[in-house]
Amino acid sequence: MSLSRTVYLDYAATTPVDPRVLEAMLPFFTETYGNPSSIHRFGRAAEQAVEDARERVARILGCTPGEIVFTSCGSESDNLALRGAMLTARRDGRGQHLVTSPVEHSAVTQTAHQLAELLGFAVTQVPVDRHARVDPVEVARACREDTTLVSVMYANNEVGTVQPLAAIAAAAHQHGALMHTDAVQAAGQLPLDVRTLGVDLLAISAHKFYGPKGIGALYVRNGIALAPSQSGGGQENGRRAGTHNVAFIVGLARALEIAYEEAARHNAHYQQLRDRLIDGILASVPDAQLTGHPRERLPNNASFVFQHVDGNALLMHLDLKGIAASSGSACKVGSPEPSAVLLSMGFDRTWALGGLRLTVGRHTTDEDIDYALEVIPDAVERVRKLGVAG
Ligand code: PLP
Repeated sequence: MSLSRTVYLDYAATTPVDPRVLEAMLPFFTETYGNPSSIHRFGRAAEQAVEDARERVARILGCTPGEIVFTSCGSESDNLALRGAMLTARRDGRGQHLVTSPVEHSAVTQTAHQLAELLGFAVTQVPVDRHARVDPVEVARACREDTTLVSVMYANNEVGTVQPLAAIAAAAHQHGALMHTDAVQAAGQLPLDVRTLGVDLLAISAHKFYGPKGIGALYVRNGIALAPSQSGGGQENGRRAGTHNVAFIVGLARALEIAYEEAARHNAHYQQLRDRLIDGILASVPDAQLTGHPRERLPNNASFVFQHVDGNALLMHLDLKGIAASSGSACKVGSPEPSAVLLSMGFDRTWALGGLRLTVGRHTTDEDIDYALEVIPDAVERVRKLGVAG
């Protein structure tokens, strides 16, 4: 066993930039550097690149280019969708109520919390089942006369569960509410056609599909007015102020195109590695459970809970062995609190402190999985013997 080996199993946290994406971006730093809002030829060339990127993104989402808003990240896309839709609905006297779930990313839960705490909106969280699935019947039950928006993610970032989105969207629409989905983890792996999904707002982020960090997009169905979450200039049809990040917008579009051209091949590769991880770990680690749905899950996500194990201590232990993993959402690493997602799925504290998320990617090899399966069972046992701090 080589101690210098490193194995990256945290592709849900972020991915490396595809060299083809970088190549597409480079001219827009030094050659085509105009401001797309300028009238002159430098500006027009940059504007052309932004509009070309918008068209390519729209093609993959099955929408029109005018329905794509470029943002600075997935979090901003979620913020714009929630705050923008709720504030506009209040202004127009169309309702004050938001329905969401307890397994959303903090970009949604914290925005919902702010809407409730600071701005007086009503927020209902529908329950999830043991597999983190939202039941469309619960969404219908939670909807009221004044419900403006339902926000349920496409695929969960911690446990990989894929939601029955079209049925949830149908429930929202039956009650006159708009449907937003955080598709940040799904983008690149699952179909993104917004008409089939039945959503009105959909958020993506390039760094999850081999594009650069710090660029995202929000699909906004035609006819939906959103108060901008960032005010200033009139960029993006007045929905998102700020000079366009041309190179990154070009990078997002190229990365999304490549991801969907190659999705079948990559997903088959991911699934095979993921299933080896799941079978191997459940067979060799006592008191271990798979988290998330056994079948309706992201092709690249293998996630677990280990009873009486400190998940953060396990991550540090694995890091010493060269394995990069996560205990859940990347933002939560270092926090001694059990995962709120795992608690909402019904795991008690003795389990919910011991989450481990392994996510594979384009560069993961069979040898990487061999190494992970050699190291992880022993690491869990060692950390279990140390006891749980919390
Ligand atoms: N939503 C989900 C489901 C995520 O996994 C993430 C990132 O981890 C985000 C939103 C935030 O995206 P970004 O890092 O681009 O702000």
